[in-house]
Amino acid sequence: MAIDYYATLGVDRGASDSDIKKAYRRLAQQWHPDVNQEPDAAVRFKEINEAYQVLSDPERRQRYDLFGTVGSEGGTGFGGFADIFDAFFGAAAAGAGRRGRPAAGSDLRYDLRITFEEAILGTVKEIEFPVLARCDTCGGNGAKPGTQPITCPQCNGRGEVRGVRQTMLGQMINVTTCPRCKGDGKIVETPCDTCHGEGRVERRRTLQVTIPPGIDEGHQIRLANEGEAGPRSGPAGSLYVAVHVAPHPTLKREGTELIYEASVGIAQAALGTTILVPTVEGEESVEVKAGTQPGTEIRLRGKGVPYLRRAGQRGDLHVLVDIEVPQRLSREQRAALEAYADASDEIVSEQAGLFDRVIGKKPAPKRSKARRGAAGEPAGSAGGGATTAATPGGASGSADVEDGTAA
Ligand SMILES: [Zn+2]
Ligand SMILES: [Zn+2]
Repeated sequence: MAIDYYATLGVDRGASDSDIKKAYRRLAQQWHPDVNQEPDAAVRFKEINEAYQVLSDPERRQRYDLFGTVGSEGGTGFGGFADIFDAFFGAAAAGAGRRGRPAAGSDLRYDLRITFEEAILGTVKEIEFPVLARCDTCGGNGAKPGTQPITCPQCNGRGEVRGVRQTMLGQMINVTTCPRCKGDGKIVETPCDTCHGEGRVERRRTLQVTIPPGIDEGHQIRLANEGEAGPRSGPAGSLYVAVHVAPHPTLKREGTELIYEASVGIAQAALGTTILVPTVEGEESVEVKAGTQPGTEIRLRGKGVPYLRRAGQRGDLHVLVDIEVPQRLSREQRAALEAYADASDEIVSEQAGLFDRVIGKKPAPKRSKARRGAAGEPAGSAGGGATTAATPGGASGSADVEDGTAA
């Protein structure tokens, strides 16, 4: 059941950032467990904090507005009391202000590799990792079963000690973390045998992580409370699953758009054809219309990447059509293209014909095609003749030597 963060902070849905901040400060002061003696103060305080963490972050607020949850992040929670003090009093107060409370556990990072398709379609992955988890023997408080941690006699459970100094300006109160309990406020006299009083033990944890469709390289999924347990019942840290996406052999991704570079022959571009385009759902037949120009883009709507923050919306797959001009021509291909050139009155360069080579004659422009403009070009030069590798052995003559095809 989703929590109404707006109701928690007592603001309406259109509240500005500063309204949210003001409401948060007021409620946090009112419900701070050090101030408020009501039994559910700590719970309320945690809820207020959670609501603020979501609503003060524009991205998470937007997602919450849309989905009523922060979904993929596995809920939010807060990373520990230190975080709250950071947000509330500034980082400097965090250390000294942690009165009578155990420290929070560390956040953990897990690097998860997924395929290109999994990133686009979403998946559920099982991950396993070592973690300092709460000790089951003592329930996390570090005391041997049958015993309890005692209140620290030096600070009376406050976790801090005050010293009073007389100065020129009057009395100065100097507050430091209690050296005896290190700020916990409690002392374990008879430590648990399993965890030696730490309240946590190393264990392997297995989790199912839901990867939302549309996730990309470098995104992180935060799983609150799945990080290290805090020592002696301290709040747990978060687990950050850092997602790494394998590249696709032929598809490129740019945000929500997929790009495929297709290549068709000149005849296919002119006459039309059907090509197979890879999509994350499998290959798809795509029509390349007759008369397609180089650089034409064919768009497959909705075959791209789902928007992470807009359910149901998906980008497109863009097929960029490149037209491949053949670099080598067989005799039949050349004849066909020459016939095409003839039919369309195009002036084309001549190639040294096989017959001319064999008898060692310099190729001469053919009458019908040697129009103005082509006449100045040396026939059979570089692009034309050099690639004819099929010259029969024993050929001689200067033309062959120039062409580098002498056997
Ligand atoms: Zn234990
Ligand atoms: Zn103490």
